[in-house]
Amino acid sequence: MAKTFDQLFRTEEECRSYLVQLRWPGGFRCPRCDGQKAWLVRRDLFRCQACDHQVSATAGTIFHGSRQSLLAWFRAIWYVTHQRFGVSALGLQEELSLGSYHTAWAWMQKLRTAMVRPRRDRLSGKIEIGVTYLGGHQPGKRGRGAGGKVLVAIVAQDAGHRIGRIRLRRIRNASAENLNAVVREEVEPGSMIRTDGWKGFSRLEEMGYQHIVVAKDASHGKRTLPLVERVAGQIATWLAKSHQGAVRPLYFDYYLDEFTFRFNRRTWHSRESLFLALIQQAAAVTPLPVGKMPNREHLAPPLDPRSGPPKPPVSIKKPTPRETDSSDPGEHSA
Ligand SMILES: [Zn+2]
Repeated sequence: MAKTFDQLFRTEEECRSYLVQLRWPGGFRCPRCDGQKAWLVRRDLFRCQACDHQVSATAGTIFHGSRQSLLAWFRAIWYVTHQRFGVSALGLQEELSLGSYHTAWAWMQKLRTAMVRPRRDRLSGKIEIGVTYLGGHQPGKRGRGAGGKVLVAIVAQDAGHRIGRIRLRRIRNASAENLNAVVREEVEPGSMIRTDGWKGFSRLEEMGYQHIVVAKDASHGKRTLPLVERVAGQIATWLAKSHQGAVRPLYFDYYLDEFTFRFNRRTWHSRESLFLALIQQAAAVTPLPVGKMPNREHLAPPLDPRSGPPKPPVSIKKPTPRETDSSDPGEHSA
């Protein structure tokens, strides 16, 4: 039987001591002098007994400086990891009774930095890379891309009979410069990379990768890049189910990172472990201000400067809470 949030964390104190455990699993360590003894100054603030340095348990985490309680943050993380499909700022706002839609959106952006671990490792082994348009179908929407579609580079690890881990990156266009940057940042040199014959991939050998160009073979009905196509299909399904296909480009980075976080942990059968993993990652990251997210700006197209903070959708619907433990993105057609 799956636990409820209240069975794991009931008080601010419980959240705080969990965070302290995560920060200092072997007991307190002063970041300045490595001292191992500290006074508790107040709540989560420690003072090193050796050098008087004060350090907060939330320093360097996404929780730092927030006016909201840790309990509220943990509940937000619970909510995010327990939604079957994507999370909306409106849903989060309602779930936590946050004051504004903009606050909920800012929380999602902070959580996003936790979903994408900083200094995460690059994928290695056999890798498939392709570029595809995702999203769109927005009635009356003009402008970038075809109906709000965004261009995404999909990097998928070939784990034999299944897909290993993935990386998703929104790119400005499919130029060699952009694709090379994605490859450099997401794939370990020496890996074997499969792509189609697009000229944007022509320098991979020089860059230290083994490169296999898979030719289109329409006559046999064979798919060129089966892993990339499968991932693209699952993202499209996921977006369609959670947003009826209408995802504004502004939200895309969040959804790509949320999808990646879930996909790469799709074999975890308990939501609770997903929840704790996200707390752990949230406790291990240095928060970035909203607008300076880790999706390297040189690759991503600028977001609409007129849009400002996102506005709630016009038609306000109650979010439908989904509590099932059984489906992650990725399980539909693996
Ligand atoms: Zn010290």
